[in-house]
Amino acid sequence: MKILLVYPEMADTFYSLKYLTKLIGKKASFPPVGLLTVAALLPAEWELSLVDLNVKPLTDEMIRRSDMVFISAMNTQAQSAFRIIERCKSLGATIVAGGPLFTHEYHRFEKVDYFVLNEAEITLPLFLKDFAKGVAKSIYTTTEFADVQKTPVPKWELINANEYAYSILQYSRGCPYLCDFCDVTALFGRKPRVKTPEQILAELEAILKNGNPGAILFADDNLIGNKVSLKKELLPKLIEWRADNPYAPGFETQVTINLADDDEMIQLMKEAGFGKLFIGIETTEEDALLLMRKKQNTKRNLLRSVHKLHEKGFIIAGGFILGLDSDTPDTFKKMIDFIEESGIILVIVNLLKAPVGTELYGKMKAQNRIISNLDFDEKRSNIIHKMDKTLLDEGYKGVREAITSAESIYKRAITFFETRKPMKVRTSLKQKIGSGEILLLLRCIFTLGIIDGNRKYFWKLIIWLKQHGKLRYLDYALLFTAVLYQYKMMAKNGDTER
Ligand code: SF4
Repeated sequence: MKILLVYPEMADTFYSLKYLTKLIGKKASFPPVGLLTVAALLPAEWELSLVDLNVKPLTDEMIRRSDMVFISAMNTQAQSAFRIIERCKSLGATIVAGGPLFTHEYHRFEKVDYFVLNEAEITLPLFLKDFAKGVAKSIYTTTEFADVQKTPVPKWELINANEYAYSILQYSRGCPYLCDFCDVTALFGRKPRVKTPEQILAELEAILKNGNPGAILFADDNLIGNKVSLKKELLPKLIEWRADNPYAPGFETQVTINLADDDEMIQLMKEAGFGKLFIGIETTEEDALLLMRKKQNTKRNLLRSVHKLHEKGFIIAGGFILGLDSDTPDTFKKMIDFIEESGIILVIVNLLKAPVGTELYGKMKAQNRIISNLDFDEKRSNIIHKMDKTLLDEGYKGVREAITSAESIYKRAITFFETRKPMKVRTSLKQKIGSGEILLLLRCIFTLGIIDGNRKYFWKLIIWLKQHGKLRYLDYALLFTAVLYQYKMMAKNGDTER
């Protein structure tokens, strides 16, 4: 059997980091790790090829040559998935579809032949067994959760790792929290299931064998969801691994803000090489946090928690939400003030949206407030918000403009540098910038420090670092100016328009 695995194009939202990715000479941010895992679950004798539309075009010849086309997608790839399915059908291809988009919304894709939904470790073998007997059903689904300790190492050899900004692995699935807008618990449950440290080390070896990415993303929805196994099992092994691989790329992941309460975890994560962390702050208003059931963010000084994580050596990226039922006209200013004082540079502000399968979706449906299919774009929503639409649109635009301005990013960068304390776990410059990255560094300096219209902020940051004896943070200055570049390019292309 000849199988073509297809990964649709990502919509141009902040998450795709399109401009930043191009700036560093890569074609896409994230490799299709889900499809690579599916590839590892297929019969060994099948002939596999993979096309990621974010990296290269799909040709009719590729489709014609294959016996079946497997598509995996997230919501942000919906439009591209529709186009691919139309095209494959017009060429007579048999289509198998899976991944979060189809798991939640398979009824929108009538032309797909077989849906293999939920976690492929469970449903794909069932499909393959029936298919071999010629009795395959159109939908395979399950209410059970897979044993991730049986998940194979993704087939990294199907892609060229050098075309991506990141490499990805996943330690856990599921999250113990109950945030009402989040579909993670609906998809993966509340009890985080974790892989063994040996699996993760094997995945790391496979990643490095296939090229050296700039960074490795642990694509867990909440890495610290299962603190016991993380502290006792994985992190000690990762610390040993890093000692043996001092020039391996740093790790990035997503965690909850209560990491700030756990000094032992902070130290272990730092030693293991975690640097950048994404945290859902959502809102600064306690009542709103309680309403959305984000209890882990309540009863704390959120600003102090962010500062502590910055002090301890992490760089925090923050997610925020506007359009909550409890929002008032004051919410916009409060959010801007918080972001400015936090020193968070990379900020993503979403309008409240309700993914299918979430508690919020049920609530909105009951109130007749669902108006469209989910659109992953930060500035769009599938619900009617309580706040007057014009007020919300203007407030949202005001927040986006304020926090993406060069002045604001410069001020936040200074706050970050002032907050940060020298790390006990040091990363040498050689470790930060390998010889292969020197050209890349020069290219970024050329764009951000010479060509770009915001170049004065780049040089202001460098001068500030020099004056304060902190030139060791030069790479951060570069990163922060690159984020400013991403924001600028998005605004230039009409991103803040709704
Ligand atoms: S903590 Fe994050 S992953 Fe967990 S339920 Fe809340 S938003 Fe979802």
